[in-house]
Amino acid sequence: MKPKYIFVTGGVISSLGKGLAAASLGALLEARGLTVGMQKLDPYLNVDPGTMSPFQHGEVFVTDDGAETDLDLGHYERFTHTKLSRHSNYTSGKIYDQVISKERRGDYLGGTVQVIPHITNEIKSCIRQWADNIDVAIVEIGGTVGDIESQPFLEAIRQFRNDVGPQNVLYIHLTLVPYIKTAGELKSKPTQHSVKELRQIGIQPDIILCRADRELPQDIKDKISLFCNISGDAVFTARDVDSIYECPLALHEEGVDEKVVSLLNIWTGAPRLELWREIVRKINEPSGEVTIGIVGKYIALTESYKSLNEALTHGGIANDVKVNLDYIDAEEIDGLSDEAMLKRFKHIDGFLIPGGFGTRGVEGKISAAGFARRHKIPLFGICLGMQLMVVEFARNEAGLKDANSAEFDADTKEPVFYLLKQWTSPDGSQTFTQDENSNKGGTMRLGAHPCRLSEGSFAWQAYNHKGDIAERHRHRYEFNNQFRAVLEEKGLNVTGTHLHHDLVEIIEIKDHPWYLGCQFHPEFTSKPMRPHPLFVAFIKAALKKSKSS
Ligand code: GLN
Repeated sequence: MKPKYIFVTGGVISSLGKGLAAASLGALLEARGLTVGMQKLDPYLNVDPGTMSPFQHGEVFVTDDGAETDLDLGHYERFTHTKLSRHSNYTSGKIYDQVISKERRGDYLGGTVQVIPHITNEIKSCIRQWADNIDVAIVEIGGTVGDIESQPFLEAIRQFRNDVGPQNVLYIHLTLVPYIKTAGELKSKPTQHSVKELRQIGIQPDIILCRADRELPQDIKDKISLFCNISGDAVFTARDVDSIYECPLALHEEGVDEKVVSLLNIWTGAPRLELWREIVRKINEPSGEVTIGIVGKYIALTESYKSLNEALTHGGIANDVKVNLDYIDAEEIDGLSDEAMLKRFKHIDGFLIPGGFGTRGVEGKISAAGFARRHKIPLFGICLGMQLMVVEFARNEAGLKDANSAEFDADTKEPVFYLLKQWTSPDGSQTFTQDENSNKGGTMRLGAHPCRLSEGSFAWQAYNHKGDIAERHRHRYEFNNQFRAVLEEKGLNVTGTHLHHDLVEIIEIKDHPWYLGCQFHPEFTSKPMRPHPLFVAFIKAALKKSKSS
């Protein structure tokens, strides 16, 4: 089956929510009974975002097969049923890497290797290779039209229409229509310029989505239609909404999905949006609230914790409560006494220590872990968070005063976490080795790994008594089994281990309302319609705490 292709580009400024618009469109097409696939093409030169700082690029989203990808892919998985893989995100760096490898191998038979056609052909084959057995492939082009780096991608998608036939391709352009207060007017000029850039390359958008803080009046739509050479009924408002889960409904009210299927000449019935309406209703009318303290390092840029924030919201949906997020700068609480923390964190119903890299803020997170443990406040540690829960317990309960992760103190006498030098891929097909000097890109323990749960544990209860689970990883350091016996003896229970290797995946303590650390990242697989069990259980414990205090 040959899919139809929708290319989503963005103009005027970045951060307009192109990823969300694409994901929402995916959700609407699925609601019309179509099967959808999604892909993101990023013009920057990093081979993948895995080596980029969260301050620069926000969260790195990990797929089941272990690809480190753009955070928009998180939206695609949360909004649709599409299964993403390493073919779902290509950067210029990756495309060039592939082309240069081919050149070195001699694949181009002595030809001069050029942007057109070699790079553009590579881009087109990356667009084509994954899109089998689906009705519609939605491909988002990162960056803003007009950027030098995005030109080969735009050229490739321009050619694509000729390759697969005009009836099979749709171009959607998302722009900004700002409201200028002093003039009291919405301005269409930036949109006109952005579309002019696109048309210069030979792409005439079929649909223009105008991000605006209010509904566009007809005269503005008419103006955009006239100047951008597009029919009047193909200009839509993409208005600001309170919750991202309202986006599909907002676009549907505008008639976007109707226009898309009619332009692509696909017949479907009306979309079934009951589930989306129900999610939005639950978000808007919760019967209570809880406050979660996120003790982190990247708190100034909450994009860094995108999936985490969403997973917490989903945990709230499942418990019918609103989840207030209080970002706590880990550095600020380092060294605070329990008394000071009790005062400062009176309003907190549960703490979450998320993943992270590097020394900054580590001691503050350890203090928070100890505080939550001693004062029986629900605590959820993810990846680095779990590692620091173990460090705290080792230092304060097991008498291992120097306990640390080798990531933060390479010479510690008590490395409760250490650099794993060798491991095999989850399917056993590949063996990886590394040491302190290895390349940093793509070399962590990545992707979904199977894990066996201990009966009766918090985890086992959360997963509804399931014995084996699989969750996504992204980390370099591992629990050091040399210390397992002494820690277990003092009451730190290992309640989840790798199904095939001697690797610790979950730790808990018993005499506590809810204290769980996991080496994997459960936030990546949580969806509004299918909240992740650990987030559901954590919010439930926080709710219990809020009711009791
Ligand atoms: N820095 C830690 C490691 O590499 C934890 C990583 C994470 O939290 N994702 O093992």
